[in-house]
Amino acid sequence: MAIDLHAHSTASDGLLTPAALVRRAAGQGVRVLALTDHDTTAGLAEAQAAADAAGVTLVAGVEMSVNWARRTLHVVGLDFDPANGDLGAALGGLQAVRRDRALRIARRLRGAGVADSLAGAERLAAGGVPGRMHFARFLVASGAVRSPQEAFRRYLVRGRVAAVRSEWPPLAEGVAAIRAAGGIPVLAHPTRYGFTRAWLRDAVEAFAEAGGRGIEVVTGGDGPGDRDSAAALARRFGLRASIGSDFHDPDFPWRELGRLDSPPADLTPVWQGREWAPV
Ligand code: AMP
Ligand code: MN
Ligand code: MN
Ligand code: MN
Repeated sequence: MAIDLHAHSTASDGLLTPAALVRRAAGQGVRVLALTDHDTTAGLAEAQAAADAAGVTLVAGVEMSVNWARRTLHVVGLDFDPANGDLGAALGGLQAVRRDRALRIARRLRGAGVADSLAGAERLAAGGVPGRMHFARFLVASGAVRSPQEAFRRYLVRGRVAAVRSEWPPLAEGVAAIRAAGGIPVLAHPTRYGFTRAWLRDAVEAFAEAGGRGIEVVTGGDGPGDRDSAAALARRFGLRASIGSDFHDPDFPWRELGRLDSPPADLTPVWQGREWAPV
């Protein structure tokens, strides 16, 4: 499909600038793109200018980190007013959580014998607050591991030495902030949280009860089983269907922009009735 509603730029942990991301999307045949950086809308203005030049319709987006049952969920917000004060305040709070978390990750890494990771990750974050992906790239650059995936596996995922608890705001607060700004809250990549079926069902129920409206049923790197599970959850909880690659890096071909199947025909897509609905 010519629509992709989940992608990252250098405003968070993507490797392309917002303008370069939009140009790559256009080159891949994407006509409607949402830039959904982690906990920030800082890339939207640059992306909008590039989208105007490339004839791409840009949808304002963000991927918010929230807490549910002591675990992290990602909620994509789509088509909100980027100038909304409530959303801006919520994102400011998330940036503060990220700053505190970066200090704690760096401390843990130092304890594990990896020096200077905060400065290194900050350099790679190019002015933004370093996230786990920046630490992962620093671990690659410093020779500790060979790939970001290995950095996550060895240091950063739950249970490993530099995994720290993040005090994200509750799920309901994130959903409410997106709704207050006129946006559509979408539960990101539901099958990637490592939950059991029962846990995932409870998470999606909590998301729907909090005012969530959509769920990603096609995402980069998923398989047929993931799509069936996500679509079943959409039906069960009356959620609309979204699709997005979760593009970060041109060297991750399994998350290339705009290579997404359409959602199952019985589901209502998130874009239905919106002026940016693909034709
Ligand atoms: P953060 O929001 O800073 O905790 O980082 C989350 C991001 O880290 C995700 O959006 C992915 O870009 C990346 N990530 C999370 N888990 C993994 C993993 N197991 N392998 C590779 N990248 C991951
Ligand atoms: Mn990311
Ligand atoms: Mn995510
Ligand atoms: Mn993402």
